[in-house]
Amino acid sequence: APAQSTVVFDSHFARELPEMAIPWRAEEFPDPRMLVLNEPLATSLGFDPAFLRTPDGLLLLTGQRPPQGSAPVAQAYAGHQFGWYSPRLGDGRALLLGEVVDGTGKRRDIHLKGSGQTPFARGGDGFAAIGPMLREYIVSEAMHALGVPTTRSLAVVATGQSVSRETLLPGAVLVRVASSHLRVGSFQYARATGNADLLRRLADHAIARDHPAAAQAENPHLALFQSVVSAQASLIAQWMLVGFVHGVMNTDNMTVSGETIDYGPCAFMDAFNPSAVYSSIDETGRYAYGNQPLVAEWNLARFAEALLPLFDPDEDRAVALAQESLGAFYPQYSAAWLAGMKAKLGLPGLEDSAASSLAKELTGLLQAAGADYTSFFRALGRAAGGDDAPVIAFFQDPQPLREWLGRWRALAPDARAMERTNPAYIPRNHLVEEALAAAAAGDLDPLRRLLGAVTAPYDERPGLERYAAPAPEDFGTYRTFC
Ligand code: AMP
Ligand code: MG
Ligand code: MG
Repeated sequence: APAQSTVVFDSHFARELPEMAIPWRAEEFPDPRMLVLNEPLATSLGFDPAFLRTPDGLLLLTGQRPPQGSAPVAQAYAGHQFGWYSPRLGDGRALLLGEVVDGTGKRRDIHLKGSGQTPFARGGDGFAAIGPMLREYIVSEAMHALGVPTTRSLAVVATGQSVSRETLLPGAVLVRVASSHLRVGSFQYARATGNADLLRRLADHAIARDHPAAAQAENPHLALFQSVVSAQASLIAQWMLVGFVHGVMNTDNMTVSGETIDYGPCAFMDAFNPSAVYSSIDETGRYAYGNQPLVAEWNLARFAEALLPLFDPDEDRAVALAQESLGAFYPQYSAAWLAGMKAKLGLPGLEDSAASSLAKELTGLLQAAGADYTSFFRALGRAAGGDDAPVIAFFQDPQPLREWLGRWRALAPDARAMERTNPAYIPRNHLVEEALAAAAAGDLDPLRRLLGAVTAPYDERPGLERYAAPAPEDFGTYRTFC
């Protein structure tokens, strides 16, 4: 393996927005060891995977030896957490190492999570345990394979240091890759400083990084907002279509790029249920599955408030522009969801109102039966091919479903197209927990097998049946912790 990395880092964020970037260093870790490395992603970023596995590579990946051009910083941001505003959150246990340009010419952040306390730590220890970091690796790479925009995971490195939670747990650093780490909360922070020039520089930075087409618009900052509204409408529709529950949609956990970020208490819904909540701290169900579109719109309203002075010098005019642009969220979300649902039903050309009632009737049946969302849609592809037994098996009283199937099949659904749209493998909660428990005990095989399944989710393979099946009854109610 080469003795050093040839990838040159840049630090546009730190240079352009010094008010929001605190130069900082990662903790020194006694014994870094690679737990999982994303070789295709490493290669696409220009890294030699063999180098990253060497002791020098591990020093780079844990931030202990910043690479050429890197100026590590902790990023400042604010945020509404469960509706309550916190003026100063920021990277409490994370560092932006810098930016690299990937093989397609796109600039990407290389970011560490679990690299030690920063000035934003607010009493937190700055560290992360291997379980949650491996969970983020699994779920983010599964989301990417499902075609959902997301931050990526380059590596999880065990630090050799214990982290104190309810018990002592082995520590780890996650190396995350993103279009940017700009959040709605980043704009709330800039706005709250009262520094109009900072807000403008942040918006211009976001345009350059995540929404370059907005630069050509007559009102680029309004176009930035509109572009973020569209990106989030599309993103949330995709979450809903794959049954993803983010769990902690605070404004600091919503990106401006439209990538999913911060895999903490997230989970894939098993039985179809709009009230599905998995996070142990979401006591009121604010971030339940069915609330996600509404919460996204609420967060975007906070984003608009932060950007307001950039839309127009006249405040009334600025508010009118913001409201009009925010009004596009729900129609765009609904259109994206309905287009996706048509594809899941194998009826991409079906007219909107027919598709909408067919979908509503079906989700009503699924909810009443408590049917597993992912497995049902995969089985529905077989029903399109004439084999009804697998979908019928989800229902104690199959008669209403039989009637629905009759109307649906009369529209000639495309079984092949459904196989490319309805995944066989998602990171099911019981399989994720199994892989994390084995990894904590030193056995990485279950993690590798699970990753193998979920990173090719549409390609059903013999021998992987248990990865396509719902959780066993005795797994019980799933609760996530962050
Ligand atoms: P999250 O709920 O993951 O979005 O995190 C919210 C805030 O808590 C962010 O400012 C994090 O940086 C911070 N945070 C979470 N865990 C820790 C920790 N162990 N040490 C320091 N800060 C943390
Ligand atoms: Mg967060
Ligand atoms: Mg988190």
